[in-house]
Amino acid sequence: RSKDQGGGAHNQYEPKLHVHAEERRVMEMALRKALDNDEFSLNYQPVVSADTGGVLGFEALLRWTNPEFGVVSPAKFIPLAEDARLIVPIGEWVMRTACKEAMKWPSTIKIAVNASADQLSDPDFLDMVVSALQESGLPAHRLEIEVTESIFMREGTGAAEVLDQIIAMGINLSLDDFGTGYSSLGYLRKTRFTTIKVDRSFVQGAAKKVPESLAIIRAVVAMADSLGMSTTAEGAETEDEVKMIQKLGCRKIQGYYFGRPMIASDALELFAGYDMSQIRGGYAA
Ligand code: C2E
Ligand code: MG
Ligand code: MG
Ligand code: MG
Repeated sequence: RSKDQGGGAHNQYEPKLHVHAEERRVMEMALRKALDNDEFSLNYQPVVSADTGGVLGFEALLRWTNPEFGVVSPAKFIPLAEDARLIVPIGEWVMRTACKEAMKWPSTIKIAVNASADQLSDPDFLDMVVSALQESGLPAHRLEIEVTESIFMREGTGAAEVLDQIIAMGINLSLDDFGTGYSSLGYLRKTRFTTIKVDRSFVQGAAKKVPESLAIIRAVVAMADSLGMSTTAEGAETEDEVKMIQKLGCRKIQGYYFGRPMIASDALELFAGYDMSQIRGGYAA
C-alpha cells in the first residue's frame, strides 16, 4: 500500500491524490509498452506434497522490470494493468510462456497460472487457453488455473460457466487466497474446484495457535475433503508453520520454507537435483 507520509498542514488530500494519479499515469504508459519491450518475466515457486515433500508443481508469478521503475511488484502493477485493460494481452503472454516452460519439466509436474476476473470475462479466454496448450503441447491435466473469489462478485459475466468449461477441458482449477475475500460458500456448491488455497494469514495464525485461524483451517480442510477438493496452504515460511499445516491435514504446501519464486533455470535445477529423502526427513513430525 502506498500511503504517502503527509507533509503539509491542511488540504493534504488533494496534492496526494494528484501525485498518486500522476505516478499511475506515467506507470500506465510504461506498462503499455512493457510487452513489446520484453520487460516481463516469470518466476516459478514450488508447490510440494505435505505428505512426501515431493514437488508437485510450480506457480508462475509475473515480474515486471522497467528501466525507470525498477522491479515493480505484481501487487502494484496487476491492478493497474486491469484498470488500463492490459491484463488480457499480458495474461495471454503469461499463459503461453508458462505452458512452454512447463514442457521442459518431468511430466508429473504441474504449472499453475493466475487469471484475473477480467481475463475470465474475455470472450476469447478459453480459445486462448486451448491455443496455449496446443502450441506448447502441454496436456490439459498439467495446467492449473488460479482464480480468486472476486470473480463471483461480478454479475452477468458468466464466470461460473467459464469455470465449468475449464474443468470440462480437464484443466485443474484453484480458488486462490481463500478466506480473504467476501467469501460465500454458495459457489463451492456450484463450481468443482480442484484445490482451495488457504491464505497465508491463516497459516501464520495457526502456527501461533490463534484459535480462530486453527478453527478456520480445520473447517476448510474438512469441507474440501467432503467436497472432493484438495487444499494448499500458502506462504509457509517456518518449520513451525509446515508442521502445523501437516497436522491440520492440508495436502499441499507452498511457501518460502520450500522455495521462493525463482527464475526458470533455477526451477529446472531444483527439480533435477531434488533429494526426496532429505526433504522428507527435514520436516518429519
Ligand atoms: P498469489 O497468487 O496469492 O501468489 C502468492 C504470492 O505470495 C506471491 O507474491 C508469492 O511470492 C508470495 N509468497 C509465496 N510464499 C510466500 C511466503 O512464504 N511468504 C510470503 N511473505 N510471501 C509468499 P507475488 O509474486 O508478489 O504475487 C502477488 C500476487 O500478484 C499474486 O498472489 C497474484 O494474485 C498476483 N499475480 C502474480 N502473477 C500474476 C499473473 O501472472 N497474473 C495475474 N492475474 N495475477 C498475478
Ligand atoms: Mg496464485
Ligand atoms: Mg495465493
Ligand atoms: Mg495469498
